Amino acid sequence: MKSIPYGRQHITQADIDAVTAVLKADYLTTGPKVTEFEEKFAKYIGSKYAVAVSNGTTALHLCTMVLGVNQDSKVITTPITFAASANCVRYCGGEVAFADIVPNTALLDIDKVRTLLEAAPKDTYQGIIPVDFAGYPVNMEAFRNLADEYGLWIIEDACHAPGGSFTDSKGIVQNCGNGNYADLAIFSFHPVKHIACGEGGMITTNDKALYERLQILKTHGITRRQDLMQENHGGWYYEMVDLGHNYRIPDILCALGISQLDKADAGIKRRRAIAKKYDTAFAGLGMANFQPADGINHAYHLYVIAVKNRKELYDALRTEGIYAQIHYIPVHTLPYYQQLGHQKGDYPKAEKYYENCISLPMYPSLTDEEQDFVIKQVLKNGQS
Ligand SMILES: *Cc1c(COP(=O)(O)O)cnc(C)c1O
Repeated sequence: MKSIPYGRQHITQADIDAVTAVLKADYLTTGPKVTEFEEKFAKYIGSKYAVAVSNGTTALHLCTMVLGVNQDSKVITTPITFAASANCVRYCGGEVAFADIVPNTALLDIDKVRTLLEAAPKDTYQGIIPVDFAGYPVNMEAFRNLADEYGLWIIEDACHAPGGSFTDSKGIVQNCGNGNYADLAIFSFHPVKHIACGEGGMITTNDKALYERLQILKTHGITRRQDLMQENHGGWYYEMVDLGHNYRIPDILCALGISQLDKADAGIKRRRAIAKKYDTAFAGLGMANFQPADGINHAYHLYVIAVKNRKELYDALRTEGIYAQIHYIPVHTLPYYQQLGHQKGDYPKAEKYYENCISLPMYPSLTDEEQDFVIKQVLKNGQS
């Protein structure tokens, strides 16, 4: 029997042709496809600028660098996310503070963040990293208002949410990562994410100054821009104006990303249809706990349900070749973060969420028959 993972890439002949064309062209790494991918991605998301990088984690690191995170910084994020959302603060020597989640969305609880900010002396915190977890868009307008009260920046971790949106207080639909409320947003092109490059990432922003610095930081801090250089010795000449990294993404992968972007809308549509079918199947059973509110266009990177017998269900599904996953082990309970002083029990709602959550197969190429089989096995083995 064919195994059914929780997520997987969807590669077509058009993708293969796009990659092959680059292999036959002049540039394998930084070439025309990088800029084309950045421009097309920015257009898709609705941001002014986009910076393509080697993966979502390096995207996060460049964001904390460009925002000046250092040993004196304290940054708030959610415990229910991939570790990288917190690690990017540590790369720059900063301290990570967590706040608990809202149980029915599993998103960072803005009231808990406000409580943290109110309780601390002024200027204790520098920024907030909300995560559009599972593809459920954070109300970034509300976070912007709070951040402005305290002079904080916002990095939106939108890895799960390209194509998701919420409606703001003016009735305007705001795409995740469009830069209208967050200073910077980041995306990942890991194969389980919506757009697959293998490895890849993107930073989006509406801030020209941040954009320009990010373009330099991703390639060693080196520039050839005449207006930024102190001297010019000739055609070969460049200056290193900042301490950057090699976080570049190759042209080969950008060609794949561009081709994948053509299928993004169809992919979201299919994800929403899959979610609807799961919703219907589990309606009334108390498992489908994370329903989007009005005005929320969920991007469904994950379809998470809550069950009483999580381990039993996980094991039973595996026996049937269904590789469900758990997203996520609360970050503050990971040994590295416990060593830094965080403890089990600190964020009870996140820990309760973790006990019961399980992510079911969710990807555009999941067939109706496969989904029927998953539903049957969940109904047979899951306890709500
Ligand atoms: C995947 C992911 C990342 C990291 O992206 P990579 O491309 O794997 O480095 C960061 N944050 C979240 C929420 C993710 O899901």
